Amino acid sequence: MIADRIIDLRSDTVTKPTDAMRRAMARAEVGDDWYGDDPTVNRLQDRVAELTGKPAAAFLPTGTLCNQIAMHAFVRSGHFVVCEARSHVCGMESHSSAALSGIAFRRVEARSHGQLTAADLDRSLAPDPYDVGVVDLVVLENTHQLGGGWPMPVDAVAALASVAAAHRVPLYLDGARLFNACVATGATVAEYAAHADALMLSLSKGMGAPIGSVLVGDTEFIREVRRLKILFGAAWRQAGLVAAAGLVALDEGYDRLVSDHENAGRLASGIAEILPGAVDPTEVPTNIVFADVSGTEWTPRQWVENLGSHGILATSVPGRVRMLTHRDVTTTQIDFVLATWERLLSGAGTAIEAVRSADR
Ligand SMILES: *Cc1c(COP(=O)(O)O)cnc(C)c1O
Repeated sequence: MIADRIIDLRSDTVTKPTDAMRRAMARAEVGDDWYGDDPTVNRLQDRVAELTGKPAAAFLPTGTLCNQIAMHAFVRSGHFVVCEARSHVCGMESHSSAALSGIAFRRVEARSHGQLTAADLDRSLAPDPYDVGVVDLVVLENTHQLGGGWPMPVDAVAALASVAAAHRVPLYLDGARLFNACVATGATVAEYAAHADALMLSLSKGMGAPIGSVLVGDTEFIREVRRLKILFGAAWRQAGLVAAAGLVALDEGYDRLVSDHENAGRLASGIAEILPGAVDPTEVPTNIVFADVSGTEWTPRQWVENLGSHGILATSVPGRVRMLTHRDVTTTQIDFVLATWERLLSGAGTAIEAVRSADR
């Protein structure tokens, strides 16, 4: 059995714009954003600034560019950024940071779910007695993607922020999925933002806009961001066309994130039943599911291939299959995904049976 339509669980970036977004895009008022003249971009920036309680914001094409511009603004070439060892900035973006800004990373390994503690951070910021290693910025990722979409509570962010402040190092929040963290913890975006010097919010992940992320901070920082936006070639002219969809995402995207989390929980519980030990459903607080398939006959890559032949797209990371839920995945489709996992497992031989009956 193959899914009627492709079920794309590779990322929460794969959603298609809603009808409301397409209508808003069609009638968007636009201007030249190089000059700061696009009224829809300006409206989006004002709205996100207000949402975060920060003075200013800049609309950019990607979350990666937000992170890169923020780090370029805060960090001198040859200086360190301190971050959790599996965060996006020092993994996926390490080469960008090297090429664009000459940034070195001090990677701190968290004990669980990518969650740094105040003590971890304090140790990593201890001054170098030789004055050679200089840390210019602390980057936190919330939710933490490779930490299983783990949301860091506001008080934990506050504790880290006070450690950073004690060392006089600014703190930046990679909030690609901060909205998911808010849904999971009940905190507001502004409550998180209060503890960061600057932050990024993605509109094109769970919020469901086709394109765009927003960088937020104080007025002087955003003035520098605008300069760097032009320097890096991202002054994207009549960007109001996509900002219009971003505004709709802010209207309609947040409240429905809870169903993504429910679907991820359903997926995790189902897989835990089919393949005990592969995933702990109590460790799936948002929209990201990692299934450990090391006890099966197939590698994660083979799982991805076999799911793919049934119309289900996922990604593989070492030892695990990664699946994300989002607006364009229904609960019915999650049940189809689970039925497919079960069928693949029963067809995949005796090693699997051993795993299924093993009391793990
Ligand atoms: C996706 C992601 C980014 C980058 O956002 P893009 O819009 O894909 O460039 C940055 N940080 C984290 C944690 C992400 O998950």
